[in-house]
Formats: sequence, structure tokens, C-alpha cells
Amino acid sequence: MGLEEYRRKRDFSKTPEPPPGKVKAGAKLGYLIQKHDATRLHYDFRLELDGVLLSWAVTKGPSLNPSDKRLAVRTEDHPISYGTFEGTIPKGQYGGGTVMLWDEGSWEPKGDPRNGLEKGHLSFTLHGERLKGGWALIRMHGDSKRENWLLVKEKDELAVSDGTEAAFLDENASSITTGRAMDDIAAQKKPLNTKTAKPKAAAEKTPAARITEDLILEGIKITHPDRIISETGHVTKGELAEYYAAIAPLLLPQLKGRPLSLLRCPGGIDGECFFQRTPGKGLGADVKTFHFAHNGKKYEYLYIENVKGLMEIIQMGSIELHPWGSTIKNIDCPDRMIFDLDPAPDVPFEAVKLAALDLRERLKRHGLESLVKTTGGKGLHVTVPLSGKDSWPAVRTFAENLAHEMVGDAPDAYVATMTKAKRNGKIFIDFFRNDYTATAVADYGVRARPGAPVALPLEWKDLKSLKAGNQFSMQEVLKRIKKVKPASDRYKTKQRLS
Ligand code: ATP
Ligand code: MN
Repeated sequence: MGLEEYRRKRDFSKTPEPPPGKVKAGAKLGYLIQKHDATRLHYDFRLELDGVLLSWAVTKGPSLNPSDKRLAVRTEDHPISYGTFEGTIPKGQYGGGTVMLWDEGSWEPKGDPRNGLEKGHLSFTLHGERLKGGWALIRMHGDSKRENWLLVKEKDELAVSDGTEAAFLDENASSITTGRAMDDIAAQKKPLNTKTAKPKAAAEKTPAARITEDLILEGIKITHPDRIISETGHVTKGELAEYYAAIAPLLLPQLKGRPLSLLRCPGGIDGECFFQRTPGKGLGADVKTFHFAHNGKKYEYLYIENVKGLMEIIQMGSIELHPWGSTIKNIDCPDRMIFDLDPAPDVPFEAVKLAALDLRERLKRHGLESLVKTTGGKGLHVTVPLSGKDSWPAVRTFAENLAHEMVGDAPDAYVATMTKAKRNGKIFIDFFRNDYTATAVADYGVRARPGAPVALPLEWKDLKSLKAGNQFSMQEVLKRIKKVKPASDRYKTKQRLS
């Protein structure tokens, strides 16, 4: 076809699309899809061959199900440089509307593609981010002026036909390079640029290439980095991901290899949030599964081992991370005992601090050192590091007895029963955190509360100046750990319950 038709249809003084230019073809043949909100929404499927992009308009978009044959109307060849275009073609110009880069990568023809094109049967492998494996384009017979083809997924291990394929396009509705939604592109919202962004190859610097930088952290693409997750403090998803990436060396030692509950808030903290503890679909390759049975009940939990796993769960809209007190390697014996101090609404924070100090003294009398941290919420957590030799029932009984001892000594200040009605003016010493399936928010974890405060481990001496459980923002924490490097061996201990 060549590029004459492409050139003839466009006024390059009016559209931001690139005019044809010479681009040296790389060793790999490029493949991409542009989602195009023109007169009718469609997906432009493009394969590089002999210096141009062969193009088809796929009205309904690709399907992973081999029995869904999708109409693909052949359109004019496009210049290679068109492949990085994302933006809005002005109304009234040819193809006016918003263009999103929906997938990109390379393709490998099976056999001679020129032959296949001629014969009307093109078989190939896609190496895209979203489309992979075997695919075919098959020309239909007919005397229509338009060349009608069918885009079909080949039956391979990447084909999906269990019904879940129906949601594929909805689940993948954002730009593959900028993470922007169609509306963001139309509104010309620029993606967040960061030091960690992946630079685009110099050869691709078309007018539109200005807006094609991703937030890539630890090799994981973070979509919608500029999406606001907390109106208070104007906190974005990108900021959250960058915080978690930066804090990972301190966070992960306390989190990895432990069954985990996530609090996911895909619409931000003011939207709907839900707890998730099973790996489910689509969390990522580094989110692992832990099976275990307890009291005749079977459980499936997710856990992570590394920073990639951490980025994958943040990418999926998680904000809070809640690990167990034991690791999957030693699931029956916790290596921490937790007291969660929950003040009733009318209790001043100073009283919570006193309760924590009281608890610390009592633990000392049992020969146990303890640690304190803010929760990012209303209270404090006092944690006793353990060597992982005492069982869950032993740890829970110990915690329960100590909580009841406190209530016995100061019944006006403390309460240790779940019943909310009896808590007026008191602090609930929650020892129920010490059991199978119970969790406590992760050290250095962010809370889905206004301003996205952090649960920050403190030294006991820091308690004096502490004003509230939610006083530390992500920025403050990052600044603080730069100034005073936290001890990495806080949990290293030989202590066990006597
Ligand atoms: P605050 O200081 O505001 O009380 P917190 O983290 O202690 O903050 P709590 O409501 O007291 O919050 O809950 C204690 C812990 O119990 C949490 O840190 C969390 O790990 C766990 N938790 C609470 N609710 C759930 C839930 N629905 N699913 C899983 N874990 C939960
Ligand atoms: Mn609490």
C-alpha cells in the first residue's frame, strides 16, 4: 500500500499525528494497538513490515477466546513513527478523536508475511504487553471495496475461554505507556514524570513522544500514577508507590514470607475499600500463594518475598498491608506478640502513651523487651519480638493474662473485652491480634485514612514528643529515616515466654 494514502488523508499543519519520515527498521518487527475513540470506538491493530505499519481497525477489539472472530477492516499503511502516537486528533480532521497506545511490543510472522498478506492468511506470534502468543489475520471473501479480515487468537496455552475473557478489555482500559485513561488523554493530563521513569528510545521522539513516560518502579509498571488517593494532602498513587519502593528495605524484612491481608482502595481512600487475603487473579507473578489448614478449615493466603511483589500489590490499588505475627516457614509459632491499644473516642492521646509505658514496664517484669509504633490511626501498638519457639495458644494466653492483669489493676482506665459498649473513657487492650489469621498493620505501612499517614516504629524515648497516632506522613517518614537510620535488628531476639 505504501504511505501515499496516509499522507493524502491528513493535514499535518492541523493534526498532531506525525508526517511520514524515514525510520530505520529495527531487527525486531514492531507491533502495537492504538485504541481510537473516533466516530466509533475501535482498536487499530498495527504490524510493522517493510518500513510501514500494516493496519487494521478492529471494531470490537481483540479477544483472547479463539472462537471470538473479530472483524478487522484493513486500513491504510501508517508510518512507523505513528506507533508512539498518543493524543487527540482535532475534530474535523481525518480520524478526529482521542488515541491511546493500548499495547506495544514485537511480532514474529510464521512463514513469509508478504506471501501471507497476498494469500489472505497471516499467522504470527505477538510479544506485546497485553497480547501474546499465536494469532492470525484471515481475509474474508467478498467484493466489498473494503478489505474485511478476521483477527483470531490461536488455540495455545495463552488462549482464554472460561468466560473471564469477556472482561479483558475493561480490565485493561488504560494506556500501556502512560497509564492514562481515555479521559485523561482527551483532557491532555500529563503523566507523572519521575527519576525512575523509563526513557523512550531517542529514535521515537515524535511530537507525541513527550507524553510517553511511565512510572516504572522495580520493573513494575504503575498505572495512573497521578490519580489522587487522598484529597487531604493531595496524595497520589504514584507517590504511594514511590514511598513503598523507597521504604522497602525497612518494610520487607518485617513483611516478607508472612500471610498478608491487603486493604485495596482502587478508587482512593474515599472510595470503596476492601480487604483481600487470597492471591486471586491479576495481582502479579511475584504475589505468591500460601495454603494452610487450621481446625479443619482450609485457607489460601497471599504473601510476597520481594520488592517486585510489593510493587505489584500497590499497582493493584492496595494501600494498607497487614501481615500475620508468624511466617509461613514457622506458621504455628509467632515471632511477635502484639498489644493493640485502642482508645475510646473521648480518651486523650496522652493516656494511650501512658498505657503503652505501663505495658512496657509490666512486660519488663516478665523479662520481655518490647517495641512501640504508631498505627497511623488513633492508637499505638506495643510489639514483643519473640524467637518463634512459643506456640500461638501460648502467646495468646500470655497476652490475654497480661491484658486482664492491667484491667484488674486499673479498671477505670482499661478494658479487655470486645464489647464496645463498655469502652467509654477507656483504652481497649486488644490481645486478640495474637492468633492464626489475625493481623496487625505493617511497620512503615500506609493507612487508607485522610492524608495517608504511616504506621511508624519508634524508639521508646520518641514517645514523649508524640502528639498523635496519625502524625507521620510518607514524606516525613522518608525525611526522618534519612536523618536517623533506624536499627535494622529491632526484631532480632532470643527472648521467649518463660
Ligand atoms: P488504630 O490505632 O486506629 O486502632 P489499628 O491498625 O490498630 O489502628 P484496629 O481497627 O484497631 O486498627 O485494628 C487492629 C488491626 O486489626 C489492624 O491493624 C489490622 O491489621 C487488623 N484488622 C482490623 N480489621 C480488619 C479486617 N476487616 N480485616 C483484616 N484485618 C483487620
Ligand atoms: Mn488499634
